[in-house]
Amino acid sequence: MYVPFLSLKDVTAKYADEIHAAVDSVIDSGWYLHGEQNRIFERDFSNYVGADYCVGCANGLDALICILRAYKELGMLHDGDEVIVPANTYIATILAITENNLVPVLAEPRWETLEIDEDEVERLITPRTKAVMIVHLYGRNAYTPKIGELCRKNNLLLVADCAQAHGMKWGEMADYKASVSAQAWSFYPGKNLGALGDGGGVTTDNKALADVVRTLANYGSQKKYWFKYQGRNSRLDEIQAAVLSVKLKHLDEDNEHRRNIARYYYENIKNANISLPCINDVYTGVEECIADSVFHLFPILCADRDRLQQYLSDKGIETLIHYPIPPHKQECYKDWNDLSLPVTERIAEQELSIPIGPAMTMEETRYVAETLNSFQN
Ligand SMILES: *Cc1c(COP(=O)(O)O)cnc(C)c1O
Repeated sequence: MYVPFLSLKDVTAKYADEIHAAVDSVIDSGWYLHGEQNRIFERDFSNYVGADYCVGCANGLDALICILRAYKELGMLHDGDEVIVPANTYIATILAITENNLVPVLAEPRWETLEIDEDEVERLITPRTKAVMIVHLYGRNAYTPKIGELCRKNNLLLVADCAQAHGMKWGEMADYKASVSAQAWSFYPGKNLGALGDGGGVTTDNKALADVVRTLANYGSQKKYWFKYQGRNSRLDEIQAAVLSVKLKHLDEDNEHRRNIARYYYENIKNANISLPCINDVYTGVEECIADSVFHLFPILCADRDRLQQYLSDKGIETLIHYPIPPHKQECYKDWNDLSLPVTERIAEQELSIPIGPAMTMEETRYVAETLNSFQN
């Protein structure tokens, strides 16, 4: 059997008729940027998320950049301010901070959850800290009431990188909405809510912030040929917005499918050489653990990771590593290469993401679990 990591072809095929119809209608409309489809998607997605405003933009990196840049334009962040961010995140989160002349302060994650460690956040707050950027990595909720409390107490902005977390029900978390001021989304094809190309968005309840983000993403212009800010060109195109509106209707169903796969993995992967993060000591049981993630990815940990990956590959199972080199070890951040972040580095050495997705079959899921169980040290 061959099990792809994620077959985008199959993901699209699930809703092919609706997607083709949506794309055709945009083609026929003759209107390709900043139009009706953007308005519809922004309205529907903000409703879905439970936010007052949604601003579409070109990709997730731009969404992150525009949020921070908007806070600078509003006078709430300044060059050199420190932003606490998980050290094991995807590079985009860090790039958005450095691009804005802000200083990322890398916080270790918890080994048990792979999410930012609230005690590290507390330890790293200095008088220069002005914001915390949490990242719901792998689709798991990274917010904790303590993080919200720390931000309130220290007057810090709390921003969330939600690029891997479409469909999380934070509305049921009492103080999430009151604590997180802005959320950045990516609609990269492989995300839980993915376009057929690039796409991104910002959601917030803050009208001033939404207005500045919208202006920044439109060349800094509110009125044609008048430029208030040195903005950027960051548009969500109409075809992608139309595709996203179709896929948004199926997001809960897709995430339910992901959760069913995750439940099967948690209940059936039994190999002393492999550990499944999050299940031990953090959550009281499988259901609680499953409810707190939308399973953009399903990470497992193995001391002999590279051999396990080869073993799975030999058995036809495609896997990926998220991420093999943490940001502080990258060439583009040479000054940080000597930093020691042992938890982050151990995750980079041991993490392996196994197949999960809205088009994966139960037969494939069983095969992946069985194959993992047959791996010997
Ligand atoms: C995908 C991703 C991004 C960036 O999104 P793009 O649309 O590719 O720019 C940012 N942060 C995280 C955590 C991501 O997974």
